[in-house]
Amino acid sequence: MSNWESYVRKVVPYTPGEQPKEKDIIKLNTNENPYPPAPGVKEVYRAFETDRLRLYPDPSCGELVEAIAQFYGVKKEEVFVGVGSDDVLAMIFLTFFNSKKPILFPDITYSFYDVWADMLRIPYEVQPLKSDFTIDVTDYEKENGGIIFPNPNAPTGVLLETDKIEQILQKNKDVIVVVDEAYIDFGGKSALPLIQKYDNLLVVQTFSKSRSMAGIRIGYAMGNEKLIRYLSDVKYSFNSYTMNQLTLALGTAAIRDRAYFEETTTKVVQTRERVKKELKELGFSFADSMSNFIFATHESVTAKELFEALKKEHIFVRYFAKERIDNYLRISIGTDEQMDVFLSFLRKYLKKK
Ligand code: PMP
Repeated sequence: MSNWESYVRKVVPYTPGEQPKEKDIIKLNTNENPYPPAPGVKEVYRAFETDRLRLYPDPSCGELVEAIAQFYGVKKEEVFVGVGSDDVLAMIFLTFFNSKKPILFPDITYSFYDVWADMLRIPYEVQPLKSDFTIDVTDYEKENGGIIFPNPNAPTGVLLETDKIEQILQKNKDVIVVVDEAYIDFGGKSALPLIQKYDNLLVVQTFSKSRSMAGIRIGYAMGNEKLIRYLSDVKYSFNSYTMNQLTLALGTAAIRDRAYFEETTTKVVQTRERVKKELKELGFSFADSMSNFIFATHESVTAKELFEALKKEHIFVRYFAKERIDNYLRISIGTDEQMDVFLSFLRKYLKKK
């Protein structure tokens, strides 16, 4: 018998949310946006010349990087793009978390962080959130090899105020601090202005949520030019052509439409606030969410039971069978009509209890 298996890099992979095949479902389980991408995206898609596909894409993703830089009022040298923020985050782990000291992140957080750390053999130490699911910034004052957290946090939806982020930065000038802002556009305040003050801060965002383009896979990091150069060096040593021609063209069209972005994110926020009120009336409680989902627990019926009852009705929400959060449902915000179906089912179901 050969022994090749002992040399395999064995990993326990991340488990993505379900993508059910049925058409007639209400999908509130992976925090996608219920509204279509900006109208310009369709126009560019229709006009796209397939002959362009003969050529390799621009490895620097120039046009898209320029459009993102313009949207945020930063330099193009301060922007890095990748295949969804998962790709950008993986590159960040590979590039910057290279110390023998543990990196720090919350115990309840995006469940990809420990997967990347394990895969890349990066030591880490989780910092428990307080019982109200907020971050205690003093937990991030110990020696470490880097810090990462989502803001708002996932799956809790809880926002950390900018002055608290700055407190973390003040105590961590010699390591890279990453703020994963996948959900920042639903009412939160971005830490982006702080990149001008802290050369060790990376702010990561995505087109998957607020720009309705989870299927195209675009994410980006913004930070000091030197950080972006280091990140690009690793990318070019891994795969130069991460972004394809069509994605670059569609992404550029999407980010140029600020009005549509504002209109659709506002609609999601308005629906979220209404759903919060109705869930409270139905006996749910939750930390205040500033994202496009609500992480809620019910006073008498278990999350697991509700998850299964909803699924039977073809309404998909997310349930995590994990310590501290196994009695919570993460409910993505859909259209008003979708949320009405969801709420009226709950109303009926809970009345029978
Ligand atoms: N960060 C957080 C906190 C997320 O919840 C997600 C979505 N699963 C991502 C990053 C990755 O999103 P994407 O790769 O679609 O940009």
